[in-house]
Amino acid sequence: MRTTGFLFAISFFVLIFLTACEQGENQMNSSQTETSQQEFAIALHGGAGAISRDTDPEIRDAYLASLSEALEIGTRILDEGGDALDAVEQVIRFLEDDPLFNAGRGAVMTNSETFELDASIMDGRDLNAGAVAGVRTVRNPISLARIVMEDSPHVMFAGPGAESFAEQVGVELVDQDWFFTERRFEQLQRALERDEVMLDNSQLEQKEDIDERKMGTVGVAALDRNGNLAAGTSTGGMTNKRYGRVGDAPIIGAGTYADNNTCAVSATGHGEKFIRNSVAYQICAIMEYAGTTLNEAANVVIHEKLEPGDGGIIAVSKTGEIAMVFNSPGMFRAAANSDGYREVAIWE
Ligand code: ASP
Repeated sequence: MRTTGFLFAISFFVLIFLTACEQGENQMNSSQTETSQQEFAIALHGGAGAISRDTDPEIRDAYLASLSEALEIGTRILDEGGDALDAVEQVIRFLEDDPLFNAGRGAVMTNSETFELDASIMDGRDLNAGAVAGVRTVRNPISLARIVMEDSPHVMFAGPGAESFAEQVGVELVDQDWFFTERRFEQLQRALERDEVMLDNSQLEQKEDIDERKMGTVGVAALDRNGNLAAGTSTGGMTNKRYGRVGDAPIIGAGTYADNNTCAVSATGHGEKFIRNSVAYQICAIMEYAGTTLNEAANVVIHEKLEPGDGGIIAVSKTGEIAMVFNSPGMFRAAANSDGYREVAIWE
């Protein structure tokens, strides 16, 4: 009887001890991903993909310098009390004008050696959103997307309609030559060569040269001093695209999403996968319905819903928590917050 009582007491204390350990571990996990409330925060990407660690150091440094400058532009706007939407638009305009990235100048080429650009922007205050798809003459598609959001009752304009709208609202228009870079032309030639021998699309996907899977879309997520979140994404899409193909970048909920209740997200990667999984919205929804942190939600979607190599996201939550999660070998990215944290990186 006495032995049974003793054993019972021991088991009781062991149970209490194990429960305490488990709680301690949970607290540790959550404190690794949660940050204290930030006054402002920003995260940006310049595309995800098979970026080789052997990349020419000069090219690598050029990317890092451009990402740092982009981060500086956004951080300054937010630090001075500017709007999250302005930070998103201005940083993306800068990256669209930089030929290193697959957005605006430097965009990838379609099968018919043209450029068709996609972009979207979203305001976390009221879920207002604007997008353009397949535009050919707009220097900064992100600004046109913002005008669609603010000055029209619609969310997305595509193709010739978007061009007419652009003419009407007076955004800067350029010739297709403006977007041209030798590097993207060569990339297209290599893709075209493969096309000739591989007519079956699934085969083409498997055999795609790993180098062509470097993407380069750009995107920004920001939290401003007024607690407002915004996100935006801009891209030339995928090399050798045909038939007016539109990826995830201009699709609200796939490539871009922002909601002041949860987070702001911009995605990059294999657009079709991001559309099928409603990636940007799903991350916000997991936070809202399952009460997770931003990093927990982003990890579930990027590592459990998508497949290795698909791409990644950058995101900022309403508390200023930053997530930069990807399942590809690299993602051009940068982030900062009001606590003075700064990061510019390409690989893990
Ligand atoms: N997501 C883009 C698209 O599929 C490509 C990229 O992110 O680089 O159009």
